Amino acid sequence: MNVTPEVIEELGSLTDPAVLLKTLQERFGGRLAIGTAGQLTESVLVALCVEAGFKPRVFTVDTERLFPETLDHFAQLEKNYGLTIERFHPDPKAVASMVSDHGEFLFFDSKEKQELCCRVRKVFPNERALRGLDVWVTGLRSDQSPSRQRTPRLEMIMREEDGKKRSILKVSPLADWTESRVWDYVRTHAVPVNELMAKKNPGGWRYESLGCVICTTPIGPNEPRRAGRWRWFNQDVLKECGLHLPPPPHG
Ligand code: SF4
Repeated sequence: MNVTPEVIEELGSLTDPAVLLKTLQERFGGRLAIGTAGQLTESVLVALCVEAGFKPRVFTVDTERLFPETLDHFAQLEKNYGLTIERFHPDPKAVASMVSDHGEFLFFDSKEKQELCCRVRKVFPNERALRGLDVWVTGLRSDQSPSRQRTPRLEMIMREEDGKKRSILKVSPLADWTESRVWDYVRTHAVPVNELMAKKNPGGWRYESLGCVICTTPIGPNEPRRAGRWRWFNQDVLKECGLHLPPPPHG
């Protein structure tokens, strides 16, 4: 893909997410896709595209450990917006080998084994989803965690496909949106919300970030947003699955 600094600068001047998404769609068509794990921002991105007059390609990685409510949410998004979410699954042989070597609940053992599980179940399938794409649209926001504070709206990332290096444009149109702005949009535009996030729980416990069952728990009223992920690790540990870190050596 030939995305020059001039093109990035031009796209960077489009501060309205819907205008940015429409412009990208006009340029890249089916070589653009939104990745979703069922988070609020990703559903807002789909709604913004539909509002802008087009149905985007949307994909998800089904780790085979997702909450039933997340699978229901995908079905609701599909019905609401008349689209089909492309599903990518982990390689069954890689999962079987990992489980045979380390056990099914390896992620409890150490940060390294959690990262291994995330690589096999999420990162490698996500790498397959990105094959052939020029634009990967994400719902990352800079207020989601300290490690995401510098999330750029537009970023060229290098990938390897069939032994060849290739760059793609990673776009996070809502990077500077706050949680309350996202909820405002959700409410005023009737965007479907994962039942787990919509639920009011006693004591203010709530889900703000969703991943796999076991590795995701609700957070308390004063906890940081990603405190519920891999709760058994020290809170200072990087709470990331690896999707938004530099790409792994193979996938
Ligand atoms: S979130 Fe947990 S179960 Fe899911 S891929 Fe990562 S370590 Fe494995």
